[in-house]
Amino acid sequence: MDTIPVMRPWLGAEEAEAAAAAITSGWIAQGPRVAEFEQALAGRIGAAHGVAVSSCTTALHLALEVLGVAPGDEVVVPSFSFIATANVVKHAGAVPVFADIDGATGNLSAKTVEQVVGPHTKAVIAVHQGGVPAPINEVKELCGPLGIALVEDAACAMGSTYEGRPVGAGAEMAAFSFHPRKLLTTGEGGMLTTDSARFATRARRLREHGMDVSAADRHSASKIVLESYLEVAWNYRMTDMQAAVGLVQLGKLDAMVERRRVLARRYQEGLAGIPGLQIVADPPYGTSNYQSFWIVLPDDAPVGRNELLERLLQHGISARRGIMAAHLEPAYLDGSGPELPVTERMTAQSLILPLFHDLAESDQDRIIEVLSAELSR
Ligand SMILES: *Cc1c(COP(=O)(O)O)cnc(C)c1O
Repeated sequence: MDTIPVMRPWLGAEEAEAAAAAITSGWIAQGPRVAEFEQALAGRIGAAHGVAVSSCTTALHLALEVLGVAPGDEVVVPSFSFIATANVVKHAGAVPVFADIDGATGNLSAKTVEQVVGPHTKAVIAVHQGGVPAPINEVKELCGPLGIALVEDAACAMGSTYEGRPVGAGAEMAAFSFHPRKLLTTGEGGMLTTDSARFATRARRLREHGMDVSAADRHSASKIVLESYLEVAWNYRMTDMQAAVGLVQLGKLDAMVERRRVLARRYQEGLAGIPGLQIVADPPYGTSNYQSFWIVLPDDAPVGRNELLERLLQHGISARRGIMAAHLEPAYLDGSGPELPVTERMTAQSLILPLFHDLAESDQDRIIEVLSAELSR
């Protein structure tokens, strides 16, 4: 019996051919395919600009730099997220302040953010956790009058919608991930989207050593162009090989989301009878791409979360612990912060079930069966 993985990217010959074409073109670093991918993805999101980078982590770091986040500033983030959301605040020299989450969505809300904003708060990073859209407008209404910027960590949320529009165009900037654990993949990669030409221009400069002209533009110019370096920056570039794969993947995005939503519905229906089990669902104001299909065990579950993961594995099912909580990790144990009871409960009692494009319905039925048996008393 093969183990059912928690995720498997949907890749085929088309992606391989696109990457090969980039290689044989002779231009493999950031170039025309990156520019094309940026335009296509920004267009899809409904944002004016896309800036492709090496990961979502570097996209988030650039977002904070572009906003002028610096030592002395605080940035509000959920602890209930992949650790990169908190780390980028440290990369910018600022202090991450953890806000709790709404137990229904796993996301920040205006209420949880309000509890932790203060005079030093420069920005808030709202995560669309696992693809479930966060309530961007209510957080924006809180932040706007206080002069606090809002950044969307949309790492998981490519293809999710918020109030009828694609997630990722609701705040000052949004950051996407193209890691294979997400939907659309380029191996590694990320994208910053924004409506602000000023933010986009600065982010382009910061991803490329602070140069005033990109290497691609310099090499394709008909005259000698001598670049200058306007500020100290980074190398956060995406390659044209990755962008070539990303363009093919973007063409498959609708199909990816559709399939995931069908499988999510099958889980929701199949698991509905388990007493006290919380199952991820669309919030009233949007739709999830179900990047992570999570469930939360009831307090009195007949089996603990870690034991259940163990038993699933014995049945050939590779599930995962739920979303981590950064404030419980050694890297962040030194900080003092507010109590995060909802975060702590959800991180301890949740798990993520296998969900990927090629998941066979017979395999999914087996997962539902095993879970139902383990969780019935
Ligand atoms: C995956 C993830 C990231 C990091 O993305 P990378 O592209 O791997 O850097 C950041 N935030 C969240 C919420 C994520 O899930």
